[in-house]
Amino acid sequence: MRLRSEVRSIDREKREIEVNNGETGKVYREKYDALVLATGAAPVRPPIPGIDLPGIFSLRTIPDSRQIREQIAGRKAKRAVVVGGGFIGLETTENLVRRGVSVTIVEMLPQVMPPVDPEMAVPIQEHLTANGVSLCLGDGVAGFEQVPKVNTLSVVTKS
Ligand SMILES: Cc1cc2nc3c(=O)[nH]c(=O)nc-3n(C[C@H](O)[C@H](O)[C@H](O)COP(=O)(O)OP(=O)(O)OC[C@H]3O[C@@H](n4cnc5c(N)ncnc54)[C@H](O)[C@@H]3O)c2cc1C
Repeated sequence: MRLRSEVRSIDREKREIEVNNGETGKVYREKYDALVLATGAAPVRPPIPGIDLPGIFSLRTIPDSRQIREQIAGRKAKRAVVVGGGFIGLETTENLVRRGVSVTIVEMLPQVMPPVDPEMAVPIQEHLTANGVSLCLGDGVAGFEQVPKVNTLSVVTKS
């Protein structure tokens, strides 16, 4: 177990990695027979017009969740749109609803929770709508626009 060790490069010809020991500053090379890359992932931010406007967040880390909380508190946000009705979208929706934010989920597929069969998604969708969540299914997001004067964003769907 080598903690505080960053792999900086991979030499596939020689089957070696270059490691920087963050404690000592020593950089060394290490041989491998097989290499497993498990360096995590970043949220996909599709190239939708307006995606870089302030007030649009992706959620992966605890600091990401703090930024969202600060935005809600700072702006006294009342309404939120969650793009994507998968695990993280639904977990985010649940937490926004608990904070008193009114949520609309926009999901490209005709159901939430893509991994489950449609009939299994129905009770989840019923539970969401019973808790005041609006569902916009079978419709993708085409763009985000800043609404002048009221300082809010609007989400434009493909339909
Ligand atoms: C909001 C949210 C909720 C989730 N809820 C659940 C849940 O309830 N249940 C569940 O099963 N999953 C959940 N997940 C998914 C789960 O967190 C991820 O699938 C999982 O963390 C991915 O593990 P990983 O090992 O691929 O990546 P990570 O956990 O990101 O680990 C990658 C590691 O690689 C290290 N690393 C990166 N580059 C280098 C380098 N060059 N050299 C050395 N080290 C490096 C990083 O420091 C990091 O420690 C959730 C994810 C999110 C965002």
